[in-house]
Amino acid sequence: MRIVRSAADLPPAEGSVGLAPTMGAFHEGHLSLFRAARAENDTVVASLFINPAQFAAGEDLERYPRDEDRDAQLAEEAGVDVLFVPALEEIYPPGFQTWVEVEKVGSVLEGEHRPGHFRGVATVCLKLFNLVRPDRAYFGQKDAQQAAVIKTMVRDLAVPVEIRVCPTVRDDDGLALSSRNASLSPEEREIALALPRALHAHDRSLLNGLEVDYFEEADFGPRVLAAAVRVGKNRLIDNVVLEGEPR
Ligand code: AMP
Repeated sequence: MRIVRSAADLPPAEGSVGLAPTMGAFHEGHLSLFRAARAENDTVVASLFINPAQFAAGEDLERYPRDEDRDAQLAEEAGVDVLFVPALEEIYPPGFQTWVEVEKVGSVLEGEHRPGHFRGVATVCLKLFNLVRPDRAYFGQKDAQQAAVIKTMVRDLAVPVEIRVCPTVRDDDGLALSSRNASLSPEEREIALALPRALHAHDRSLLNGLEVDYFEEADFGPRVLAAAVRVGKNRLIDNVVLEGEPR
């Protein structure tokens, strides 16, 4: 596996290219995307870029976990050919002023509670698509609204990439894997288990006592029941698909 820090150093495409955009701190959720890309493409690129534009002031940008050596090892084992770790200035050159706003699907639920979040996500993904030029890009159903935002952008702007959405990977206790789970104390993790349980049972009352940002159905192609809760310093999101398979 090659670690590439500048788009100019990306190897010329040989056959089909699959890209999995990430912010690092890899777990089995990320690895499932890499493996799906490995199965469907000649070249697999994983990007690792902690995107400041998708964090609002006061969110956890500074304490977001970072361990590139560990990530490189895991990515290589999962079949990644190129780990693309662009510098901030490559994604946002001086004078940067162009943003992608996916108006409707990006404004509800997560978009309502994290203003500007999906503008940052859509913009960085389009930029990564333009730098890497993948045939297919891989996202997790864990972030169902993000996948819907990206699919909408790709359709609206005729971006030449196929979006593939992979199922949510969970721990044995049902908690969806997330880079943010590592900062849960054992007690907080026990409390956090109410989130998958409430979603699975379609029963909001199981979240009584927790600070709930939302617990709502939405059509993110597929329809999902999605929720966000705060546990201590952490904000956790999860969803269950209500009908059909992730498209
Ligand atoms: P992140 O590094 O958190 O931005 O996530 C990178 C990609 O991994 C996104 O497409 C996420 O939806 C996906 N992902 C994160 N957690 C999981 C999970 N538990 N199962 C499946 N995909 C996931």
